[in-house]
Amino acid sequence: MRNLLIADRRPSGSGVIRVIEPAKGEPFEEVAAAGAADLDAAVAAAKAALPAWSRLTAFARGEILFKFSDLVRAHAEELAVLEARNVGKPIGDARWEANHVADTLRYYAGAADKHFGETIPVKKGGLDITLRVPLGVVGLIVPWNFPMVIATWKVGPALACGNTVVLKPASLTPLTALRLGELALEAGVPPGVLNVVPGPGAAIGAALAAHPDVRKIGFTGETATGRAIMAAAAQTIKRISLELGGKSPCIVFGDVNVAQAAGEAAASVFANAGQDCCARSRTIVERPIYAKFVEAMRAAAQGTVVGNPLDEKTQMGPVISVHQREVTETYVALGKKEGARLVCGGERIPGPGYFLRPAVFADAKPGMRIVDEEIFGPVASVIAFDTEAEAIAIANDSIYGLSGSLWTNDLKRGLRVAQALETGVLSVNSSSSVHLQGPFGGFKQSGLGRELGMHALDHYSEIKNIYFETAP
Ligand code: NDP
Repeated sequence: MRNLLIADRRPSGSGVIRVIEPAKGEPFEEVAAAGAADLDAAVAAAKAALPAWSRLTAFARGEILFKFSDLVRAHAEELAVLEARNVGKPIGDARWEANHVADTLRYYAGAADKHFGETIPVKKGGLDITLRVPLGVVGLIVPWNFPMVIATWKVGPALACGNTVVLKPASLTPLTALRLGELALEAGVPPGVLNVVPGPGAAIGAALAAHPDVRKIGFTGETATGRAIMAAAAQTIKRISLELGGKSPCIVFGDVNVAQAAGEAAASVFANAGQDCCARSRTIVERPIYAKFVEAMRAAAQGTVVGNPLDEKTQMGPVISVHQREVTETYVALGKKEGARLVCGGERIPGPGYFLRPAVFADAKPGMRIVDEEIFGPVASVIAFDTEAEAIAIANDSIYGLSGSLWTNDLKRGLRVAQALETGVLSVNSSSSVHLQGPFGGFKQSGLGRELGMHALDHYSEIKNIYFETAP
């Protein structure tokens, strides 16, 4: 049984989470679940640790974070195997993610003493300066699709800025967050600075969002949960940053290499079994290449190696849970009912585990639920367009605006369309949306604020303006 991590104590918690391995459909670990009293203890521990941590020099905090990064790197294989088994993601992806966690901590270790204030020539004269000061205790609530990566995107800047943290991982995937908390202690992060409290979102997550001693909530998850967190945070005017859902477009013009674009478009939906807020699940293709493109997507989907996450050859593992498989199957049935043409996939793979074949729908149209709603499973919808204006209109016809791709070899058109798309992150002739050094986040109902890069630091500090009268 893995215990809660509150300061350096490991209380037993108030309940038990049975962690399931989705590739087998069986429990493989038990974790203590926090109750209300545990949450209060975690916030109290973070509050008690705040003065000493926030008064360390930024350089000193950075030194500790460098050690944390090194320890994560040294334990990358252990973390990758835990994540691959718990989420069901291919081991190769999980290894990349464990190293990305180490990179992220390294980035914010180096950033700690490079985020500073200004000297402002105010009209009155004297000396006007701004300081970047920590917010205080911050609550971080994260989902199950990229558990250690998304946790670290928040923990890194939060600690670098001098805040202390209560981290609530998703109930389905608490393992790597707890292990990261242990490695942080081993690296010299003082007890109480990073507390990890798995527990039910509706109780523990909601209590964290409402807690009077918590100054900010950093959240990634469903848009509906984001709304609930905003409402809870309103009571104490907490700062919030939200990374929410997506239904990202991938526009493909007729002048591209169809095989290459279709291969990448397929991978951008089926990676992580489609459980990716950046999944380009609306593939919007110019009519002259449409039939050829759909055929190439079919070949790519059927060529995707689905199987045991711990097998090196696997490209797609199971979905996370029975529930997520049922949600996906419901959408596949809906797509057929709505009149889209199922080209391949969508069926279960017989045997244990929550495996599905990647599905491609052709002849999909805006207004269909498979096109408008986030599925969070391996389902691609391919839509035809005739004009550039129509492609932009279809892409922007969404409550979401997180990510997107644009494929064209026409430079002027690329520049025009890239500027017209309503997404926080866009890749041109690529499907790569996450760059540690660049800002990541959404327009519209995909969120509030930005993660990664130096931009994230703005969301984990207050600006304090101090004026000094210098006249004698
Ligand atoms: P949820 O919103 O259900 O859960 C996310 C986290 O919030 C979990 O830790 C959950 O706890 C907790 N939680 C649930 N209810 C509440 C509540 N009322 N108050 C506070 N916390 C709560 O999302 P999922 O975990 O199901 O993740 C999938 C969703 O996340 C998708 O919609 C996806 O688009 C989105 N997502 C967005 C990303 C982005 O960067 N924009 C990245 C990754 C995912 P518990 O697990 O106990 O329920």
